[in-house]
Amino acid sequence: MEAETTTETTKDYGLELTNNSKTSWAFSMPRDRTCIMATGVCRRLCYGNGIRYQSKGQKAKRMRNYRTVELLLIKDGPELLAENLVGLLDQVRPSDWLAARITGDPTKTPWTLRIHDVGDFHKKEYVRSWIIAAEKRPDCSLWFYTRSFRERRLFEELTELAALPNCRGFLSVDTENYEAGVKAVAQGGGVWKLAMLQQKEEEIGEMLGELVGRDGSGAGEILSFPYHRGRYHVEPVAHPDIFTCPAVTGEYKLESSASKLRPCQACSYCLP
Ligand code: SF4
Repeated sequence: MEAETTTETTKDYGLELTNNSKTSWAFSMPRDRTCIMATGVCRRLCYGNGIRYQSKGQKAKRMRNYRTVELLLIKDGPELLAENLVGLLDQVRPSDWLAARITGDPTKTPWTLRIHDVGDFHKKEYVRSWIIAAEKRPDCSLWFYTRSFRERRLFEELTELAALPNCRGFLSVDTENYEAGVKAVAQGGGVWKLAMLQQKEEEIGEMLGELVGRDGSGAGEILSFPYHRGRYHVEPVAHPDIFTCPAVTGEYKLESSASKLRPCQACSYCLP
């Protein structure tokens, strides 16, 4: 994977969100530092390889986030980082949120944050910070996808995060890690769902058979992301146990304005 280091000074600190036209607000981290259980398949097909994620500015932001996360964890542990994450959550609270609380009407757009539109959970202390932050802002809906589930203690922390009422987590699987994913779902006490990186059907036959449970032992409903670049996507697999992301197939259009409903907010399948 290409290193995400930049020429920017390493004393540059700060946490910053990304305004993502599909998911709405998201927090990102550098892949080469945090995708600690990346597979060969996801390294090759990751949408983070796309041009809009590879600008100098986007890479610098991810590295700055990472440096700051590490600094805060070293200085004072998960609590201090959590305090700063809460600050980020508060930044993206819809402007009509207070009025909506008083009138009982819904906000124009929901209060949401996707943890990692790029990057993953690299250590359990970092997960703990998100647990604390999510508990402090129970009205904000958080969701994430992760491949960091093959280390027991990290998985336990992630399970605690995904089990919070305002949070939802998916275990990201592909042809290289799906067996571990199925096992983790079974160990997760009903907390997890699988999210599959779907390549062409002929490339994923064995995995599909396992995931949709030929013998009734499947992992429940699977969220599928057919591999895509721009408007191109591989043909989605049709199966009653598979839900294909409608943003990939073009049912929802990208929305540049943060004050309007984004595809993930409109679809809401992945939200808690
Ligand atoms: S399934 Fe819906 S909520 Fe999930 S990523 Fe796709 S559009 Fe977003």
